[in-house]
Amino acid sequence: MQEVHDALILGSGPAGWTAAIYAGRANLAPVLLEGMQPGGQLTITTDVENYPGFPDGVQGPEMMELFKKQATRFDTRVVSETGTEVDLNGPPFKVRTNLDNEFVCKTLIISTGASANYLGLENETKLQGRGVSACATCDGFFFQEKDVCVVGGGDSACEEATFLTRYATKVHMLVRRDQLRASKIMQQRAFDNPKIDIQWNTDVRDVYDVSEGKVTGLRLYDNKTDREFDQATGGLFLAIGHTPNTALFRDWLDLDDSGYIITKPDSSATQIPGVFACGDCQDHVYRQAVTAAGTGCMAALEAERFLTT
Ligand code: NDP
Repeated sequence: MQEVHDALILGSGPAGWTAAIYAGRANLAPVLLEGMQPGGQLTITTDVENYPGFPDGVQGPEMMELFKKQATRFDTRVVSETGTEVDLNGPPFKVRTNLDNEFVCKTLIISTGASANYLGLENETKLQGRGVSACATCDGFFFQEKDVCVVGGGDSACEEATFLTRYATKVHMLVRRDQLRASKIMQQRAFDNPKIDIQWNTDVRDVYDVSEGKVTGLRLYDNKTDREFDQATGGLFLAIGHTPNTALFRDWLDLDDSGYIITKPDSSATQIPGVFACGDCQDHVYRQAVTAAGTGCMAALEAERFLTT
């Protein structure tokens, strides 16, 4: 007969590993499916300097290895597979993987994260971590006294641009239309900041310079005057939204308009008893490793409580 696990965790970012640590210590012998990007978004950042407990900073991939080590110490079974199909008519719930294995569980903790949207330019991918970033909070510090560009016109772009002015000499916001999408207060903050320069009607066509191995400039296009031009810059920050990795749950769980899983207030519980969601697939506001870890902890505690009541 098929084994029914007490807790199955989907995703291996800070939320997933933290849920595993807590579930393991509660003797739930959790099974964690690592997913397509083991370690999650932190594996594409370099230094992490804002996670408490690492006074000298830590490399993102190394930090995720430490999380994993701590989770396996408490009896987490790690499976290098990705959930591709779910059946949430339960408990028990069923998850089928890319290797066609099926896992059955009494509680399911979803920590599948979110992926930053990129423009889709070839050089943008090649220069990721070498001047191209989708997280000013993570990487802004490395752009001291530099000229940088932020793409986007939403709240994230305004927030990232404002944050970057702490380090950069000048921050150019590259906005594809002639207006911002951001809330009025965030717009005003950007307008009032003398270090922020807004370039309207501007599309990014290319990122230089792969041969240099770092960002040195951009090929831009003014879509109003139909003019292409080059602009020197030391960094390109993408703030054109995130996409939560929740497509798998669309037919089962309530998602908000942007695809984030809706949980009950102050809880990680979804509308299906026994199914919990934590981290960036559920939180579009904070999106930090430490807050993801916090909600991972909540999910494991709530799963444990669910199993014992
Ligand atoms: P948004 O979807 O709100 O904004 C995305 C921005 O990126 C828009 O200006 C959009 O342009 C632009 N964009 C999208 N695709 C491209 C592209 N291919 N090329 C150039 N520009 C592009 O995403 P955010 O991440 O800013 O915000 C997401 C949610 O999180 C929002 O609800 C926001 O309010 C919230 N948030 C709140 C914060 C706060 O309150 N402190 C901070 C950060 C986010 P266009 O307008 O033309 O579509």
